Amino acid sequence: MGKKYKEYPPTKDCIGCGKCCKRMSGHYSPTDFKDLSYDGLKSEIEKGRISVDWWSEVDREKSYYLRARHIDAPVVDPSWGGICMNLTKNGCSLPREERPLGCRTLKPEKGKCDGEYSKEICKNEWKQYSDVLEELVEYYGGAYDVIGALADFLEVFLR
Ligand code: SF4
Repeated sequence: MGKKYKEYPPTKDCIGCGKCCKRMSGHYSPTDFKDLSYDGLKSEIEKGRISVDWWSEVDREKSYYLRARHIDAPVVDPSWGGICMNLTKNGCSLPREERPLGCRTLKPEKGKCDGEYSKEICKNEWKQYSDVLEELVEYYGGAYDVIGALADFLEVFLR
């Protein structure tokens, strides 16, 4: 798969504020997984630490992608924010190599961190696996309720 993104090891520029992990969990790239089949991704989700989220396109199509799960969140979670369930008082509980690419590419900038592997790039990379992700959403119950519909509307409206 295409482009390589620069990853940042922990540095003194990370002030450990944890804002990144408390606002929205990190998004996974397809390159974070060895087996991108339905069964392969399902077995990763079954470990209980991954959610399926989606980006609402302007035509309201859903572009699914995977990210770390939020505390008390379901598998299918069109969330606008939450605290990552991997966050502990000592920082991320995952070994660095198991963290989502969206986390590993975050550039520490003293509380104003940003990364070049954006959610938009992420959802575009997942497009070729949309059939598998749709099947998983169907299996885990869709969870498309009023809150999900409102989140979709706001995401498109505010973009
Ligand atoms: S996986 Fe780890 S680094 Fe990424 S958002 Fe969650 S706690 Fe933070």
